Amino acid sequence: MQLTATAGFRLPTVAANSRPAEAEPKAEEASSRDVIVYKGEFLRGGRYDNSAATEAEYKDVKPTKLDYAVAGVMAGGALLTAVNIATQVAALPGVTAKLVGGAVVAGSLVAGYASADLASGVFHHWIDNYPKPSTPYIGKLAAEFQGHHRDHYNLLHTHFLGNTSRTGILMAPMLAATGLANPHFAVGAFALSFLAGGFIAQGSHRWTHTENPPPIGKLMQKLHLAQSKRNHAEHHDMPWATNYCIVNGMWNPLMEKYDGWRKLEALYYKISGAEPETWQDDATKKLALGEIDKPTFIEMQRESLKVFADRAKERWENDYAKRLED
Ligand SMILES: [Zn+2]
Ligand SMILES: [Zn+2]
Repeated sequence: MQLTATAGFRLPTVAANSRPAEAEPKAEEASSRDVIVYKGEFLRGGRYDNSAATEAEYKDVKPTKLDYAVAGVMAGGALLTAVNIATQVAALPGVTAKLVGGAVVAGSLVAGYASADLASGVFHHWIDNYPKPSTPYIGKLAAEFQGHHRDHYNLLHTHFLGNTSRTGILMAPMLAATGLANPHFAVGAFALSFLAGGFIAQGSHRWTHTENPPPIGKLMQKLHLAQSKRNHAEHHDMPWATNYCIVNGMWNPLMEKYDGWRKLEALYYKISGAEPETWQDDATKKLALGEIDKPTFIEMQRESLKVFADRAKERWENDYAKRLED
């Protein structure tokens, strides 16, 4: 098998990646929703981290030179920005001003990270639902994201720094520019945590699919700086319509509660007439268009998901196979 920097995409067999339906998922790793099994596959409530075999298979994959460069620029930019922030706050006159400055920095860091999580969700939702594998330029990445729903471990085919450099290639130059521009410390702190969150997004996502994440990953999961396995497991429930945020997943419960993604889909539909992939599930479409209430949706989806699964399988065998032949 040939490995490249973006390695990572292969056509999975439809049912190859879910653990057999009769196996009980561990409570902390499974989706919290009730289990629906259809044709031997989890439509809902599966377990998605039995990835030790994939990790072992790809354990010798090294970061590319570009991956190292991106991580290096990111680290340099972060260090410079942090020094700038500390220098500016230290230069404030008097203890009170320094304390207020410190509080502003803390607030900006939290706001930046929260914004990164939400932005990761908005981007992920868009790329999962609107571009097709055949769409020029973005199609390959879309196929990777959409393919990941079934090939849960395609993130593990590359090194951790290969995951982070996918977004880091945008974040690192911006953080380096922030460091060089030395803006007001409130702006600097926001940019630092927003860009760091964007950089770590696919790494955090990787750890949710890793049997045994490294100590830093576990620590970040514990501190809620990285997404928990359970939080992300729900994204892998068909029709892949929820929990799109992948930095730390803090927005996911809120978006779920208020059907935020459905509202966004209805808005895009109103503006452009485009229908998302999630609407291949009739219940999801009706909920988004306000035609049914939540209890009706939950009831209706028990059956509509089966139709969705058949449609998804068909699309899999056509669109994705074609894309990979290119
Ligand atoms: Zn997705
Ligand atoms: Zn995933």
